[in-house]
Amino acid sequence: MDLTLHGVLRRSRANGPGERLVVWVQGCSLGCPGCFNPGTHPARGTARSVDDLVATALADGVEGVTLSGGEPLEQPAPVAAFGAALRPTGLGLIVLTGFTRAEIERDPARRAAVADADLVVAGRYQRRRHLGARLRGSANKEYWWRTARYRAADLEALPDLEVLIAADGTVTTTGMVGT
Ligand code: SF4
Repeated sequence: MDLTLHGVLRRSRANGPGERLVVWVQGCSLGCPGCFNPGTHPARGTARSVDDLVATALADGVEGVTLSGGEPLEQPAPVAAFGAALRPTGLGLIVLTGFTRAEIERDPARRAAVADADLVVAGRYQRRRHLGARLRGSANKEYWWRTARYRAADLEALPDLEVLIAADGTVTTTGMVGT
């Protein structure tokens, strides 16, 4: 099964505890004013298989995966398959979503999509409550701790900004600053 992607970062320290594979999905229709990543809104992106993403995470020896967007829960079936494939590997899974916990819980497909997530950070981005720290773009976003794998203290230690320079000189900036 394929996920439609915006981009992948193979090692990040600013998108969750430890070193993580970060997967930005493509496509979001939620339309939060002030969205930090409007380039992810159109539905058309690059297809990549869930199995390939899991293999990449395992090959890199990361602590886990952070799924961001775009809106992961607008691709609920492949996200559910991704979580199910990650679970037996022992890798952690964090899902960042614009849907609220209530919206997820009342929709069977969205609920299934986060079934294997350790942490879901849920809710629309609200510009007037901008935060940009500890995986929350705005202060209304809710932590939904689904397992005991991660704790609030793990997020306190996260850098708000990360600048990565590849061997070819490509610079990637990530993290919650500016979001
Ligand atoms: S849910 Fe995320 S990607 Fe979608 S509009 Fe809101 S902030 Fe942007």
